[in-house]
Amino acid sequence: MRAIASISQSALKHNLSVVKKNSPNTKVVSILKANAYGHHIDLMSPIIEQSDLLGVSEILEAEKLRKITNKPILLLSGVIEDQELQQAIQLNCQIVIHDKTQLPIISNTKQPINIWIKINTGMNRLGLSANEYNFCIKLLENNPLISIQCVMSHFACADDINHPTNQSQLDHFKKLTHNASKRSMANSAAILSNPASHFDYIRPGIVLYGVSAFGSTDHHLRPVMQLSAPIISIKTVKVGDSVGYGATWTANQATTIATIGIGYGDGYPRHAKNGTPVLINNNLCPLVGRVSMDLICVNISNTQAHIGDSAILWGAQQLRIETIAKHSDTIAYQLLTGVGSRVNFISTT
Ligand SMILES: *Cc1c(COP(=O)(O)O)cnc(C)c1O
Repeated sequence: MRAIASISQSALKHNLSVVKKNSPNTKVVSILKANAYGHHIDLMSPIIEQSDLLGVSEILEAEKLRKITNKPILLLSGVIEDQELQQAIQLNCQIVIHDKTQLPIISNTKQPINIWIKINTGMNRLGLSANEYNFCIKLLENNPLISIQCVMSHFACADDINHPTNQSQLDHFKKLTHNASKRSMANSAAILSNPASHFDYIRPGIVLYGVSAFGSTDHHLRPVMQLSAPIISIKTVKVGDSVGYGATWTANQATTIATIGIGYGDGYPRHAKNGTPVLINNNLCPLVGRVSMDLICVNISNTQAHIGDSAILWGAQQLRIETIAKHSDTIAYQLLTGVGSRVNFISTT
């Protein structure tokens, strides 16, 4: 294995403590979907131990998580057929109802289940309408097998603090749920910016992994994943020589080029532009030419480096993943969840 993703256990602890400091009297549903945002659920024990619930998207993720913990699991996408309901019950999941077609499946249960009801307050992706919600409560509240744990909704624009949709969603949510005994609305961005949205359960995702919820850099969070790969070749090119597929970069002076053993086959973004920084021996060095499947090339003319030295692609104080996301026209969430199976994941303190 060449590329390494080291997962910092102390950074995980620190980031969760930042979350809890922002919302000290709230229960925490830590979101571990997509294999803990690409960080591997089996390396998440500091989070698993210190959370009240664990959120995943679907049954397969719940199955994997259940093998390593007895904590309550919240199934965010719910179930779409009876067979999935049976699996969810066996895994002891709390199940989100977000669509009216789930009501007959849930209300026919033969075993006790804990459910969350998700309402649509303006994102228009998942969630019951106001009428559906009222119908759902009437249908389920007298069923002795069904226990309604919480009513939830999700912000569409929480990362944009001043977006008017935030307040309108919150107003809508409060109006619909004033009778509910437990409520949940806040994702990472709302946890850090909008205390009025915290209610009974907060649902942190991206901030646990030390990434800004606002696309900027939040220096009070610590990056959890550090992605690195070794230099496997060094050569000097002369004026007029090009580097990489498509010859998209040409030297205008003699340049020392390091070739590093990572590429889009490992999850380094193919759209990273010329000049995207790579950290080598504490110096930021610019990417040159196209990213290939297994390799990238970097201008190391102003750095001392040798074959075998490690290059950091993201996850250092001097090189945050948010910067790489900007240089490749995407978001950190996509980069993290895209790290490939060829990368060697290791746990660090
Ligand atoms: C993914 C997700 C979250 C976490 O979102 P972040 O922006 O990563 O904090 C919270 N709630 C729901 C329903 C989600 O799907």
